[in-house]
Amino acid sequence: MSRNTVGKSKILEIIQSSPIALSHATIQEQMKGTCDRVTIYRILERLVKENEIHRIVNVNGVVNFAACKSCSHSSHHHDHLHFSCTTCGELTCFEDQSVDLKLPSNFIIQEYQLTVAGLCGKCS
Ligand SMILES: [Zn+2]
Ligand SMILES: [Zn+2]
Ligand SMILES: [Zn+2]
Repeated sequence: MSRNTVGKSKILEIIQSSPIALSHATIQEQMKGTCDRVTIYRILERLVKENEIHRIVNVNGVVNFAACKSCSHSSHHHDHLHFSCTTCGELTCFEDQSVDLKLPSNFIIQEYQLTVAGLCGKCS
């Protein structure tokens, strides 16, 4: 296995075993110097394309990554809710909470950014 393949499976493992979404900085920290910034960035981009993870922006505008649980390689659906804590900054996926949007038929949704801000269970 090449270094990139090892890095990719390690990053995916970190994201999949985390109960919350992780930022690039947190992932880099957990990689303990085995991959540089640019490599991690490229791997994250690839994992998003391969429908393994999805991108969510928290209340502070920081991009976080979370594992895809109900996506397949052909369909990516992220109509679920995200909760962004204003105190600890943690971002949680709520896969079972989806929002049923009623838009005019000529509007095409390309991306969902459904994020609610407030206090998480630990901070409330
Ligand atoms: Zn997905
Ligand atoms: Zn919190
Ligand atoms: Zn999510």
